[in-house]
Amino acid sequence: MQDNNPEIETQLDATPNDLTMSAICPKCGYSMDKVLSDAARERKPQPGDMALCSKCAAILAFTDDLGLRCANAQELDDLNFDVTIIAAQMEIRAEAS
Ligand SMILES: [Zn+2]
Repeated sequence: MQDNNPEIETQLDATPNDLTMSAICPKCGYSMDKVLSDAARERKPQPGDMALCSKCAAILAFTDDLGLRCANAQELDDLNFDVTIIAAQMEIRAEAS
């Protein structure tokens, strides 16, 4: 019982239900920690989920380890410039200016 996957147990200890992430916008370097931990209370992000940088409004995607990378062309195409996203981007840019 004791010797099955101690590594996983350690990881679970280190990350309790409260999501602790260290996600930095690859475009502007803004730390999204606060934004993401707020969002994670409602819905935990999954790898491949999309996010918006709350500073430069870049469209980002979560990597497998829940870091952030810029969305690729395919993902941007899939979003098809969703009105909700455009509205959110406009809001972020308005706040930043
Ligand atoms: Zn950014």
